This record gives sequence, structure tokens and C-alpha cells, in this order.
Amino acid sequence: MITITDKTNCCGCQACANVCPKGCISMRGDEEGFLYPHVNTTNCVNCGLCEEVCPILNKPQTFPVLETYAAKHTNPEVKLKSSSGGIFTALAEVVLNEGGVVFGASFDGEWNVVHSYVEKLEELDKLRRSKYVQSNIGITYQQAKQFLESGRKVLFVGTPCQIAGLRKFLDKGYENLLTAELFCHGVPSPAVWQKFLAENTQKEKIAAIDFRYKRFGWNFSFLNITYKDGSCLPSAPLLLRPLLNIKNGCLFRYFYSLSFTISSLYERPSCHACHFKEKHLADFSMGDLWGVQKTYPAQYDKQGVSVLLINTPKARLLFNQLSLETVPIDIQKVTRYNPYLVTSVKPHPKRSEFFARYQTENFNKLVRELLGIRSVWIAVPVILVKKIVQKLLS
Ligand SMILES: Cc1cc2nc3c(=O)[nH]c(=O)nc-3n(C[C@H](O)[C@H](O)[C@H](O)COP(=O)(O)OP(=O)(O)OC[C@H]3O[C@@H](n4cnc5c(N)ncnc54)[C@H](O)[C@@H]3O)c2cc1C
Ligand code: SF4
Ligand code: SF4
Ligand code: SF4
Repeated sequence: MITITDKTNCCGCQACANVCPKGCISMRGDEEGFLYPHVNTTNCVNCGLCEEVCPILNKPQTFPVLETYAAKHTNPEVKLKSSSGGIFTALAEVVLNEGGVVFGASFDGEWNVVHSYVEKLEELDKLRRSKYVQSNIGITYQQAKQFLESGRKVLFVGTPCQIAGLRKFLDKGYENLLTAELFCHGVPSPAVWQKFLAENTQKEKIAAIDFRYKRFGWNFSFLNITYKDGSCLPSAPLLLRPLLNIKNGCLFRYFYSLSFTISSLYERPSCHACHFKEKHLADFSMGDLWGVQKTYPAQYDKQGVSVLLINTPKARLLFNQLSLETVPIDIQKVTRYNPYLVTSVKPHPKRSEFFARYQTENFNKLVRELLGIRSVWIAVPVILVKKIVQKLLS
């Protein structure tokens, strides 16, 4: 029976809860807001399946990288709608056009991030784009297995640990299964995300959330929240609006994005000692081609450019059907600018203090204090001025 003694050894993949034949494992949030398994010992029959499928206790087979590409979708609209270069859409299009099913992360009615599936191209947008919150897998491993057993093609996308959990849960290879893992920095706490929303938005009015809104281009994307009446959060300072050509005042709510992207203040403990670095668990791996202006300047694209790793012969076979412009690149140059492909992100020195105080204090004030207000206020205007000058010169 599964027992968590060290939180760095549970990534929250939920393979154990999905496999338990007695349904006696429930996932419960801890004080940091991350889900961990809890066993109802009265119903447990000690079958040991939960330990068998745990991808941290029993690692699945990993794959070497066969080929590495700079990749972007051939349709510029898809690139704009995607967080990076639109590889996910290219994979999903092939599977959906063949009558398959695509699993990925979406929002539920309360703007929690949850895994779900789509069966039609028109529904794909709900899975598109990175959501910087740990996604709740729920019963999607069981649903994927049912589709696979019925002979449908399945594409399952997630973090490397989620793909590892799926593969351990399935326990055998399926010819009709395709997996794609994200390059993964780490996942922030769902409870912190909800606190941020509660204090900074009118949740019931939200129509859309984009963590990587490309108003100023892919490498300057930011969190943007759009309300049902078309207004956006947050507003840019009035004086800056004409300069930036922002009609409705949208700019960015930097405290959530910045505190995650630059500081790692509230990510899952397992992300700081990740068991899934360097090794590849999926047919495809995908991420941003950060540093492209220096490493492959000809491939730079303001709308987004990705890295695609081909890890299995199955992925290689599908590669030619993808609506992607691709150029072979060197994996060493990718990892130079994307270090979390091979190493775990270090926790911020004030991570414990953040979690000790976040439930009772204001999110923005706390983050500002722990990260140092001055660095934020200096960084933002400098980036803005740089962008304005670039725009005027272009
Ligand atoms: C939490 C997180 C951390 C990341 N860290 C890095 C990094 O350090 N370096 C890097 O280069 N890239 C990172 N990425 C990946 C990157 O942001 C893009 O998602 C990826 O390049 C695919 O972009 P795309 O344009 O092809 O697809 P998009 O259309 O943007 O689709 C994104 C895909 O990711 C899935 N997804 C979105 N949010 C989650 C989530 N919370 N959990 C599981 N699956 C999700 C969606 O279902 C979709 O399939 C991260 C993504 C996430 C969600
Ligand atoms: S040992 Fe078997 S019955 Fe008990 S919790 Fe694990 S999977 Fe469920
Ligand atoms: S890593 Fe996954 S399978 Fe293992 S205990 Fe945690 S949630 Fe369960
Ligand atoms: S960093 Fe590792 S443990 Fe954390 S979500 Fe990504 S793959 Fe999972």
C-alpha cells in the first residue's frame, strides 16, 4: 500500500489512485495545495498494485533522443494561439483527423487546471496553451485505457511525470497510443493559483485566461485575463496605453507570472528533485527554443518557435505527416538555454516562508516582499522601454 514519507518522492501523477481495484485511494490537497494519495485502509486488500504502478518507485523504460528539430506550425494563426510554436496542434490534428482522441490540460468551470479529452478539431482550443499550474489528472488514465482498448488512436500530452504515470498505469505498449511530454520547469500549486485569482480578479466574469499572451511576441509573452465584456486584466498605466497601442488597457499581471518564472517560489516539492530529467518518457518531447536568436537566428519567429524531440521509431514515422516547418538542430545548444531539460529547478530560498504565510496574507504583497519590490519595478520599465524602442525602429 502506498505511503508518502518524503514529499519529493510523489509527483502527484495519480497512477496509484487510477489503478486501485478497491477505489480506496483518494487524492487530497496538503497545506501547500498539492495533491497526495490517501489510502482508506479499511477497504485496502494489500494487492500492491499502487506501488507497482508508481513511476517513482518503479521507473518506466526511457527513450534516447533520436532526432532534434526547431519546429513551428505552418499556419501563423495556430502559432499565435499556441504558447510556443504550435507542435501540440500539429500532433493533435493528425490524431483527430483519423478519428482519435486527444488528452491534455484544460480549465474547469472554476478555472482549476484539469486533464480532459477532446474528440473534435473544433474543441481543440480548450487544450491549447501552457497553464502554469499542476494539472489534476483525475480519471483520465482510465479513460485513455478504455479508448485504447476500443481501438481508437489516443494522443496523451502532459508533464514527463504524468506520461510516466500513464505508461506505468497502462502496463503495456499500445500501437494506437502516442505520447508527448513538455519540457518541464516544474508545476506551481493549484491553491496558490486560486488565491491569486480570488484576490486579483472577479472570477465569475472571466471568459479566457492565457498564461502566454503574445501581444508583444512569443519571447515577451505574459499572463492575460479577459472578461466576458471584452475588458482585460490588468490595466496598463494610462500614460503608457497610447505608447503601447493598447486599446483596452491590457498589460500584464506580473506578480503571478514573474514569481513563477523567475523565482520558483511555489512549485511542487518533487519538481526540486525531479526523477524525470534527462530521460525521455514519451514518443515526442516539446518545448520552447529559447536562445534561438543566438543559436539559430534564421529560425527566430516572433509568433513562436519550438523544439521537437523525436524519441521513438513510432514518432519518426508520424513526423512526416505533421503540418510543421522543421530544421534539424543540435540538442546541446537547446539545453544551454533550457537547463530544466536536464536539471531540477532550485527552490527559492524563501519558499518555506511563502508557504508558511500565504494562506493568511495578501498574495501580491507577500510576493513583492519576498522577491524584493525593487527588482520587479526596475525590471518591468526597462523591458517596456526596450520593446518601445524596438517597435519604433522596426
Ligand atoms: C508547467 C509547465 C512548465 C513548462 N516548462 C517549460 C520549460 O521550462 N521550458 C520549455 O521550453 N518549455 C516548458 N513548457 C512547455 C511550453 O510552455 C509549451 O507548452 C510547449 O512548448 C508546447 O507548446 P506548443 O505551442 O506546441 O503547444 P500549446 O498549444 O501551447 O499546448 C500546450 C500543451 O501542453 C498541455 N498543458 C498545458 N498546461 C499543462 C499543465 N499544467 N500540465 C500538463 N500539460 C499541460 C496542453 O494540454 C497542450 O497539450 C512548460 C509547460 C508547462 C505547462
Ligand atoms: S494495495 Fe491495492 S487495494 Fe490497497 S490501496 Fe494499493 S491498490 Fe488499493
Ligand atoms: S508519484 Fe504518482 S503513483 Fe506514486 S504515490 Fe505519487 S501520485 Fe501515486
Ligand atoms: S518538474 Fe518533474 S516532477 Fe515536476 S511536474 Fe515536471 S516532470 Fe513532474
